[in-house]
Amino acid sequence: MQAVDDFMQEFLVAERELRRRFAELEKEMWARFAVPNMHPWDLAEVQKKFDDFTMVESFKEAGEQATVIATAVRVSQWVTRARYTLRQSTGAWQISCIEYACKLCENLGKVRPDCPVCHGAGWFSPYAKENG
Ligand SMILES: [Zn+2]
Repeated sequence: MQAVDDFMQEFLVAERELRRRFAELEKEMWARFAVPNMHPWDLAEVQKKFDDFTMVESFKEAGEQATVIATAVRVSQWVTRARYTLRQSTGAWQISCIEYACKLCENLGKVRPDCPVCHGAGWFSPYAKENG
């Protein structure tokens, strides 16, 4: 029987590899559909975050069961509406901006001008660069 700690380390290595592959595929996908550098995530940064934070904190083995506590980096998975801005480049469409419906305003049922998330737009871009 493999030790719990070894198993978890192996899992984290496999998960890291999965993320790396996913990031590569994602990069290819965005390169095809979006303007250069519009890609919302800095893949290297995401990978670094994953490497820096993902680790086994503790594990407890009791008979045939074990409990492992690990720090995990998760991509949030909420359902929302997205607004895509497209532009044409050499006869093809490219996505130049993606915004998401402001959950804060949506939950209130109206767009508030003083909303700290969308500032009254009803939409926000989590990836927008400052002044850009
Ligand atoms: Zn809002």
